[in-house]
Amino acid sequence: MPADTQPPKPARVLSGIQPTGRFHWGNYFGAIRQYIELQAVGESYYFIADLHALTTVRDPARLRSLVHDAAVDLVALGLDPARATLFVQSDVPEVTELSWLLMTVAPMGLLERCHAYKDKKSRGLPADAGLFTYPVLMSADILAYDATVVPVGEDQVQHIEVCRDLAGAFNHLYGEVFTMPKPRVVEGGARVPGIDGQKMSKSYDNTLDVFEDPAVQKKKIMRITTDSRPVEAPKNPDEDHLFALYALVAPEADRQRMADMYRRGGFGYGEVKKALVAAAADFFAEARARRAALEADPGRIEAILADGATRARARASQVLARARRACGLERQAAGAPRV
Ligand code: ATP
Ligand code: MG
Repeated sequence: MPADTQPPKPARVLSGIQPTGRFHWGNYFGAIRQYIELQAVGESYYFIADLHALTTVRDPARLRSLVHDAAVDLVALGLDPARATLFVQSDVPEVTELSWLLMTVAPMGLLERCHAYKDKKSRGLPADAGLFTYPVLMSADILAYDATVVPVGEDQVQHIEVCRDLAGAFNHLYGEVFTMPKPRVVEGGARVPGIDGQKMSKSYDNTLDVFEDPAVQKKKIMRITTDSRPVEAPKNPDEDHLFALYALVAPEADRQRMADMYRRGGFGYGEVKKALVAAAADFFAEARARRAALEADPGRIEAILADGATRARARASQVLARARRACGLERQAAGAPRV
């Protein structure tokens, strides 16, 4: 059958998230929500990137608890372990071996151009080889599962290009070993503002966290910076980060009402903040309840992760065997039986 008449293969989606802090609204609305929605599209794999996190989290107890929390949070937010494979990156050692094979075809110049490393270096900060080779490990993460679709933020597209380059180089040398992945830039990944109006980011200490203590979150919301125009003045909701945050969590009808109120003027920001506290509580109420149930049954999340690792390893070990055979590491397959 000619290639163009073959039925399209179902998508295999892969996404990873670093456990370097508790998830905030930027992570959720910018990335996690779309990743979870993709579980409906086809076979999907989600991993918690603890090996990547090692380049920034240097406290073992903290790393352990961040990995646990990330898993619980993802399931609480709707990731369904019956439909998707959820696992911890380091539970699949095949990936680190694959990473070495890819390292041998990775040009230094290509890695030197990658922005995570370049940014750090240009700021005069010391970088380790882990950060430098991060795109190679990320390539192994993707290629190990024959992933076809990798949902990413705009900032990660470059790393997918690196992955395609490395897969192409390896395939060119050794035959068709790796499946070429494609990036899918997530929609609705618009920049979520922080409580100070800058981009929400854990490095800026301006986050609203998804599962934050409600009293703490309320205090943060009441501190959101606002302008000092008179109460009566009409305001443009599209230029206000308080409104942008409200719009993320409020039902459509409430959002419309609030936008109209902005345009009319004659309201105080305190009112909007109170509405935001209530809307956020409602929006995440179900996820919070699911989270509490998961935490009350500690064996459950470990069982989900163990099952995920088994399924992920089953696939990764096939891909690794293919790669080892192709490049000459499997002596038997090359016709020289082991003695
Ligand atoms: P850091 O401060 O270390 O960069 P962060 O808080 O920006 O951390 P990341 O780990 O960089 O979070 O991002 C994880 C994912 O969340 C990425 O896909 C990123 O695009 C998305 N994301 C993070 N912050 C935002 C934001 N404010 N708006 C939209 N998406 C975001
Ligand atoms: Mg960031």
